[in-house]
Amino acid sequence: MDDAVNVSTAGDRGDIVIAGAGYAGLHVALRLTTKLRHNPGVELTLVDRHDCHQVLTELPRVAGGTRAAEAVRIPLQDLLAKRVRFIQTEISGFDLADRRLLTEVGPIGWKRLVLALGSRPNDFAIPGLAQRALSLYSASDAERVWAATMTALTAAAGATDPERQRRLATVVVGGGGATGVELAGELAEMLPEEASLHGLAPDRPAVWLVEAGPTILAGSSPQLIN
Ligand SMILES: Cc1cc2nc3c(=O)[nH]c(=O)nc-3n(C[C@H](O)[C@H](O)[C@H](O)COP(=O)(O)OP(=O)(O)OC[C@H]3O[C@@H](n4cnc5c(N)ncnc54)[C@H](O)[C@@H]3O)c2cc1C
Repeated sequence: MDDAVNVSTAGDRGDIVIAGAGYAGLHVALRLTTKLRHNPGVELTLVDRHDCHQVLTELPRVAGGTRAAEAVRIPLQDLLAKRVRFIQTEISGFDLADRRLLTEVGPIGWKRLVLALGSRPNDFAIPGLAQRALSLYSASDAERVWAATMTALTAAAGATDPERQRRLATVVVGGGGATGVELAGELAEMLPEEASLHGLAPDRPAVWLVEAGPTILAGSSPQLIN
């Protein structure tokens, strides 16, 4: 009940609400904390579904088993000054007329809203992809990729036919941008050793990187692409 009262009054005094504690939202919260240090009357509220900032640039390592997921989840309470009020909740919509965020814990009013909810992976409407592929957009996603890879190796180790082992131990990465290339590289380095630990020949796993364009890392220097 106390929480509900607190949430419904957030922003009522004409304060700043930041939706999303990713790179943009967190940066804004930290910058405004500094800029508004002489305006203690302005309340800063940060809203996110997670209570941690996720270092997305490190996800390929988590997905490739070389970094723990916990290492890329930074608790927001360690980053934010006391004056920033953090509310962990799912944002479900916007009431633009009344200037309120609609959330699981009730509406949060704003005078000024900073919208920083990020983006979603694009499956380019390829049939079946969203249902069958794993995405790499959060620490939990990355954990699922690594877990699925280990499950695949276990299944491959249980097969006797080398061709079937190879098929089961093959990882297909869709998209030859920076994330896809990084993930394919991490897996290519890790899989031989992991295969041995599973009782498979080290050269049994394979990694395929699939890209529709003429090169990987489009727009990068030729040296990097090579
Ligand atoms: C795997 C990966 C690797 C990357 N590597 C690089 C790199 O090396 N270099 C680089 O420059 N960029 C990289 N990027 C891109 C970079 O991470 C993004 O450009 C950046 O995260 C965008 O910041 P943002 O604040 O707009 O969104 P995000 O960082 O995605 O933050 C959005 C926030 O909003 C929250 N949120 C979303 N919807 C809701 C909701 N309904 N309710 C509550 N909270 C919600 C999320 O929890 C999240 O905290 C990478 C991205 C990925 C996925």
